[in-house]
Amino acid sequence: MDISRLLEALDFAAVRHSAQRRKGPDAAPYVNHLIEVASLVANVGQVDDVDVLIAAVLHDVLEDTPTTADEVTERFGPRVCRFVRALSDDKSLPRRERRKIALDELPQAEVLVRVIKLADLASNIKLLPPNWTEERKREYLEWSEHAATICSPSCLALAELYWERAGKTRAKLEQEG
Ligand code: ZN
Repeated sequence: MDISRLLEALDFAAVRHSAQRRKGPDAAPYVNHLIEVASLVANVGQVDDVDVLIAAVLHDVLEDTPTTADEVTERFGPRVCRFVRALSDDKSLPRRERRKIALDELPQAEVLVRVIKLADLASNIKLLPPNWTEERKREYLEWSEHAATICSPSCLALAELYWERAGKTRAKLEQEG
């Protein structure tokens, strides 16, 4: 049952994000990121709560696609929807404001939300989009490290992975600059 629900979420996310690509140099299909985040939560974070893994798969579906919260509740239940909502920014706001709000909200978020967020940050910090300016990369790195500092106590194994990756990205940026 749990595996079926997880596969349904993967199928749903793959369809909803099908037109979207990652901002990396290979413009990978967006679903690669969703699979990585869910896999990190399960295999590094050692989380076996299927609602959390489903929320990891769906963590960008409200923010980046026309999917509604009602739809997520109907298909995957209110608990999954609550997690996904907590992980979604309001895209109608400017980027800097969205990031500030995220930092304000993370300390109050549920532990499991912070675990998914940490996996998301670890996925995103691996490789910053090559077409970003150096200033934008630095700004993102600062924000990401700030968010990860808030989330790190929620899952030490994911925190270790995040800080290892962030360290490499920071070193690369300093080399470039
Ligand atoms: Zn994400």
